[in-house]
Amino acid sequence: MITVKNVPIGGNALVVIAGPCAIENRDTYFRIAKKVKAAGANMLRGGAFKPRTSPHDFQGLGLEALKMIKEVRDELDMPVISEAVQPEQVELVAQYADVIQIGARNMHNIALLKEAGRSGMPILLKRSFSGLIKEEWLRATEYLQLAGNEQIILCERGIRTFEQYTRNTLDLSAVPIIKELSNFPIIVDPSHATGRPSLVPSMALAGIAAGADGVMIEVHDEPTCAKCDGHQALSPSVFAETVKHMRRIAQAMDRTL
Ligand code: PEP
Ligand code: MN
Repeated sequence: MITVKNVPIGGNALVVIAGPCAIENRDTYFRIAKKVKAAGANMLRGGAFKPRTSPHDFQGLGLEALKMIKEVRDELDMPVISEAVQPEQVELVAQYADVIQIGARNMHNIALLKEAGRSGMPILLKRSFSGLIKEEWLRATEYLQLAGNEQIILCERGIRTFEQYTRNTLDLSAVPIIKELSNFPIIVDPSHATGRPSLVPSMALAGIAAGADGVMIEVHDEPTCAKCDGHQALSPSVFAETVKHMRRIAQAMDRTL
């Protein structure tokens, strides 16, 4: 089990991470953060550096967004997770966020893993689109561990299959497999796994039922204006409903939320 600020991850209590894909401006971030907190989230997400597939898409506000993270984190007293895309960004993100995310596109980025390991910060390591659980994903954790970092959380965010109706295919079996092979906490990201708000609640519930230690969900209150991944964001009200249902599944699993 690891503890981020006052939030335990991997124990009996579940972690619910929520917020926008990317931080767009101060007002929007504060507004969404307050709404997800009220709905029951205990950690915030918010991208400052965005690893976009297209170089023409919004790449994040960088340092400006990191400063907003620190403000919202202090004001709402919630830990925040944010991604580092390159090794040079690790130290910077560590100064403002509580957990450093290594995204799916970077699970194989050895230099980034080594730097994240040296940082000593809690790291959320997402599975890559085609990452083998044992031979690649868990190997990647060894780079972090060899650099002296044991504060590792894994995240199943969907893998690429032949199916195109969903953005990716949520591989729920990854959850019990990781439990079988390691002691790392594992959470599920149904937003990137499905790419569709209509599918996010049921996959979040299924993740908890499969034994995940929590979920990470993208939430936006003006999804059509979002600069990144608005098409898959839950509204704050649907997110709040989903948390209520997650509580009931958590209870059935002898977990708390
Ligand atoms: C994200 O969490 O915003 C993200 C970019 O996710 P992934 O690396 O899983 O695509
Ligand atoms: Mn996203």
